[in-house]
Amino acid sequence: MNTSKHTVVIVGYGGMGSYHAGLIRENDRLEVTGTYDLLEERRAASVEAGYRSYASFEEVLDDSAVEIVLIATPNDVHKEIAIQALQAGKHVICEKPVAMSSDEFKEMLAAAGEAGRTLMVHQNRRWDEDFRVIKQMYDKETIGSLFQLESRVHGANGIPGDWRHVKEQGGGMLLDWGVHLLDQLLFMIDSRITSVSSSLSFILGNEVDDGFEAVIQFENGVKAMVEVGTTNFISLPRWYVKGSEGTAVIEDWSLTGRYVTRNNEGVRVEPKPIRAGVGLTKTMAPPSEGATITEALPAAAELPSSFFDNFADVIEGTAEPIVKNAEVLRVQHLIEAIFAAAEKNEVIKNFDLYTSK
Ligand code: NAD
Repeated sequence: MNTSKHTVVIVGYGGMGSYHAGLIRENDRLEVTGTYDLLEERRAASVEAGYRSYASFEEVLDDSAVEIVLIATPNDVHKEIAIQALQAGKHVICEKPVAMSSDEFKEMLAAAGEAGRTLMVHQNRRWDEDFRVIKQMYDKETIGSLFQLESRVHGANGIPGDWRHVKEQGGGMLLDWGVHLLDQLLFMIDSRITSVSSSLSFILGNEVDDGFEAVIQFENGVKAMVEVGTTNFISLPRWYVKGSEGTAVIEDWSLTGRYVTRNNEGVRVEPKPIRAGVGLTKTMAPPSEGATITEALPAAAELPSSFFDNFADVIEGTAEPIVKNAEVLRVQHLIEAIFAAAEKNEVIKNFDLYTSK
């Protein structure tokens, strides 16, 4: 074992836990030394992959060689596992959504503060290239000042797995994919939220939402539509954004996309009316040749380091976290506002009350 690496035990060696093990294998600052899972078959999978399988969580807590506990269990047990790990002197990486509610997260933060240990949430989709391209366009005003943004993920497989169907375990798509899209949004747009409206879908007849739509208005004028769907047999683009000078689209994870801006140097010709359906329109006619410029998507905005390198820097005291707990808490509050807006069928105009409670 390379003792210069920070030691990690993964609690919950399921889909994401084993994915983490693979990611950390490629990292030269952290090393997975073991796992703990409730299920015998997952313990066997851990041993087969070459990781020690702890017999109990207490055994992990008692092992002074373990510096970091990485939590990749279903959402309902994140809080209790995190608090116990922090109280045992471990640093914690916790999967998203960090907790079932903002109150639970505050308990976790208090435990981290009391123990003087780092708690960082794996909001890994801040590193997604499609998001960082949009962030670049927002920051650099590539299509002018961005004022409308649609961020979607569409699937046609329904809600996957088992616990994601169960409300008590933190199932549903708002907590699953929603937390990623909302985290990206608030990481990008540094402005007060002035209103939130939403609706959840229950097309599949589960007790948890199989998708949702939320409209979030920011004080700086940006309006964002965030949508997750699991019954979409035809997908809409991942991103559709409008700025004062143009429009951009990213279709998919492979970054198929483009942006189109007004050509300020081009010769302006009145568009000719076209037949549209059974009618005639000039308003919806394509712009005349030369009136617009189509460009390839710009390079993505850079983040200072990878999630795991940043975590290593944070526990070594040499960097600030890229995923800040105050940001995670704000997202947690936004999720609560989205649930409330849908349940009451109301526009939430007092979002500041959620963040200050
Ligand atoms: P999963 O069902 O595949 O795995 C969960 C594992 O945790 C199972 O093996 C289960 O036996 C184990 N487990 C349950 N309770 C436990 C306990 N008290 N102690 C120890 N082990 C326990 O679920 P998953 O898809 O891997 O999701 C796990 C977490 O990872 C969730 O919080 C989910 O939201 C998150 N996740 C994040 C991403 C991402 O990209 N960041 C992707 C997928 C999942």
